[in-house]
Amino acid sequence: MGAMGPKRAWRKMFFGLFVVEFLTGVFYQRVGRLVFGKNWYLQTLNESAIHLIWLVIVFSPVIYAYVLWYERTRSQQLSIIEDKDNKFESLFLKNSSSIVVLDPTGRPLRFNPTFETVSGYTLSEVQAMDERRLQEVLQFCEWTEPMQRAVNGEEMEEFEISLKTKSGRTRVMKNSVIPMTKMRRVGGYYVVMRDVTEARDAELRMWKMAHFDTITHLCNRDMFVGRLKDALDVAKKASVRLAILFIDLDGFKNINDALGHRIGDEVLKSVAGRLVECVSQGETVARFGGDEFAILIPAVHHVDEASDVAKRVLSAIANNHVVESYQLSVGASIGIAVYPVSGDAPEALLQSADQAMYEAKRNGRNRYVVHLPVMQQITYSRLTLENDLRSAVQRDHELFVEYQPQVDVKTGRVVSAEALVRWNHPTLGPLLPGEFIPLAEEIGIIRDIGRGVLTQVCKQIREWQQASKRPVPISVNVSAAELSEESFTAEFLNVLEEFQVKPSLIAIEITETTLMKNEDKVGAALGELRRAGVTICVDDFGRGYNSLGLLKRLSVDVLKIDRMFVSKIHEDLADRSIVSALISMSHAQNWRVIAEGVERVEDLDVLREEDCDTYQGFLFSPSISPQWLDEKLFSHSDQAG
Ligand code: C2E
Ligand code: MG
Ligand code: MG
Repeated sequence: MGAMGPKRAWRKMFFGLFVVEFLTGVFYQRVGRLVFGKNWYLQTLNESAIHLIWLVIVFSPVIYAYVLWYERTRSQQLSIIEDKDNKFESLFLKNSSSIVVLDPTGRPLRFNPTFETVSGYTLSEVQAMDERRLQEVLQFCEWTEPMQRAVNGEEMEEFEISLKTKSGRTRVMKNSVIPMTKMRRVGGYYVVMRDVTEARDAELRMWKMAHFDTITHLCNRDMFVGRLKDALDVAKKASVRLAILFIDLDGFKNINDALGHRIGDEVLKSVAGRLVECVSQGETVARFGGDEFAILIPAVHHVDEASDVAKRVLSAIANNHVVESYQLSVGASIGIAVYPVSGDAPEALLQSADQAMYEAKRNGRNRYVVHLPVMQQITYSRLTLENDLRSAVQRDHELFVEYQPQVDVKTGRVVSAEALVRWNHPTLGPLLPGEFIPLAEEIGIIRDIGRGVLTQVCKQIREWQQASKRPVPISVNVSAAELSEESFTAEFLNVLEEFQVKPSLIAIEITETTLMKNEDKVGAALGELRRAGVTICVDDFGRGYNSLGLLKRLSVDVLKIDRMFVSKIHEDLADRSIVSALISMSHAQNWRVIAEGVERVEDLDVLREEDCDTYQGFLFSPSISPQWLDEKLFSHSDQAG
């Protein structure tokens, strides 16, 4: 606001006079010097005094006129404000609204007793405040624009400010500004303030009741669906995935029936607290009612990230809930739905997650199930997706292979790559393996998919060889169902022979669970492949049963440490010590170690310190097309052979 008070006006005037006098003096002496010579000013000291007197005589009427004009304007303004006839004084004094009178510069001149009661400040206290303090107490800056609009005669909307009272409480005041004008001159402003704190509090309470669960204080279903809608809009624009977890407690009804609702409510609160601890910032936890909860993860790269949250939830809920003297245990069945595969609208996604949750209940409770398109299909045509997958296997172009580079931790060079299959479904769009491999295993066509992938990989290696490029080893994933078939090894080696690919250029990745499923058959197949020169690699190590004895019996070449341990290695000491032990143990056995899912530089730094051999992960690259891999591998001339 920054307008001049009377004292400042006087000060400014005297300062101005001094400057004028000084400059005139300097000018006078300079000219004198030129005309009368060097020592002129000594001789004319007396004349300077005369000059000063002369100046005062000349300027006095001007100063006097200015002072008169200032005083007159000021008294006109005050007369507008003061309401000399006292006509409206009682309206001012007795008003139940707070009324503040401001001078034309916006500083408070007076206020009525209501304002004094609400704010707790006296007039002199407010008047002594500097602008910063006024801003703190009255959000003073918010007033400038409404005052200006009031003066311009524009239609004024009421505006709200927060008033900080002397006792430190905050009141919400709704204000309107009325300018005081006489003969088009603004003498000041009335600001009429209504205290709307209670109304706002009530609105907030209503809003909370409409959007939050009263027992757990989590979001309710409406709020969750609203957030899901927003997250879906963002996910569609950014072409990212999104996951929701639908959680239904197992065994909660028994607690409620046996111990009553009060204890039941406490268990719900305890569960809610643990769910909140399982999610990161930006993710939403909601209670839908009863023993149903939901989690929204707004952006996921991979369905595994949602599965990781589900695992955390299962183990967090499993610990006993202590309510009064009871130690109560509940479990959870979780259904996971991922956009876009399981639906592209809130209701469709919720329905998919619900279906998956029931699947988890059917499969024995206390587990999670990822919704697959096949579940949706069950209701109208499971056959359709099966048929789609069968014909995709026949046709070349729908199933294709991408490669994720594997990088030497020390040199930073790409030393190998993993082949990962993708399905470009004609209507459902691109699908990741997690979304169709289980179905392929179930309906017995995983071998065809595996053969297709191996063929594409061998073709790629041969292309490199024909172009005189030195190929890097490629690993392919193999399921238990494939390995347990008698003819698997022979067929596998036949494909390699057909494309004249040396077995040392191929690695197979098998999970621990695969190893355990049919130890004898799988062991025999792996032994044969290994003897032929194929590298054997244990995938996702740590995710399953950590069966080190089994690994020794089966003799493997490479251990891939699961993303679960790698993703927080730089901040989680326990994970770091596990990885460190795994690396030392592997090196002692002559196994190479690959760390999977490296997303951050800090994690890579730790892996380097721990002497890990190779890594793969989004930090270097996600899976990419063969053309891109070619570029990454051979854009440096020293790699071409
Ligand atoms: P996997 O063999 O453990 O493959 C690694 C998975 O982790 C890949 O997912 C990859 O995209 C993902 N990934 C890589 N780096 C990162 C990272 O930094 N962060 C995160 N969050 N994820 C990362 P994808 O392609 O969806 O494959 C999933 C699983 O599907 C594979 O896990 C593998 O078990 C299976 N699979 C893939 N292709 C085939 C195949 O041709 N045959 C068989 N039988 N299974 C396959
Ligand atoms: Mg793998
Ligand atoms: Mg893996």
